[in-house]
Amino acid sequence: MQTLMDANGMARLGCGDCAGCSECCRGMGDSIVLDPYDIYMLQTATGQNFSQLMQDKISLHVEEGLILPSLKMQEDTDACGFLDGAGRCRIHLYRPGLCRLFPLGRNYDENGLRYFLLEDACKVGNRAKIKVRKWLDIAELPAYERFLTEWHDLRQDTKGRIMEQKSDAYTQKTNVIFLKTFYQTPYDAGQDFYGQFESRRQEFLHG
Ligand code: SF4
Ligand code: SF4
Repeated sequence: MQTLMDANGMARLGCGDCAGCSECCRGMGDSIVLDPYDIYMLQTATGQNFSQLMQDKISLHVEEGLILPSLKMQEDTDACGFLDGAGRCRIHLYRPGLCRLFPLGRNYDENGLRYFLLEDACKVGNRAKIKVRKWLDIAELPAYERFLTEWHDLRQDTKGRIMEQKSDAYTQKTNVIFLKTFYQTPYDAGQDFYGQFESRRQEFLHG
């Protein structure tokens, strides 16, 4: 049984700024799934919209009928397209939530969002104990965690409806609206993300 902790919990996370290691930026397949906040941050970092990012930095995959974007491992290197030749992240300040999180996982239950350590996931030994909130290094963490919980619920509900309907037409229509609402329509980098997400969530839920 994994130990669950909130953002004030301590875990062995300190890996010396990943010096000399880029293991979790390579060979990740489509597992670094991107949420709307990640797309907002990638758009801010690169100035590229969703379809421009789709050219070589991100790709789409299907989870239980729902189409979601993830970071694309490059064909020649099997590494993320934001990794530079020295093994460092080109967009470190804007990196996706799952990059910030690793080697932590997220758990959602009736107690809300909590974190757990993925034992042996990080290759560095002798890691120092540090606070989860310091590791995540996210501005406005309470608002971010509220967003993550709402996004998790919405994603799960949408997958549930797709699986229940068992209709190709319903699946296709839902995916078109879902992708357009949360990913393809550019976010305004000058505006607060959470307000933009909430109005899109309302639009998706209530039309
Ligand atoms: S965005 Fe940065 S931290 Fe995340 S996988 Fe790519 S290079 Fe690594
Ligand atoms: S395996 Fe650990 S040290 Fe290596 S890049 Fe990932 S988090 Fe950093």
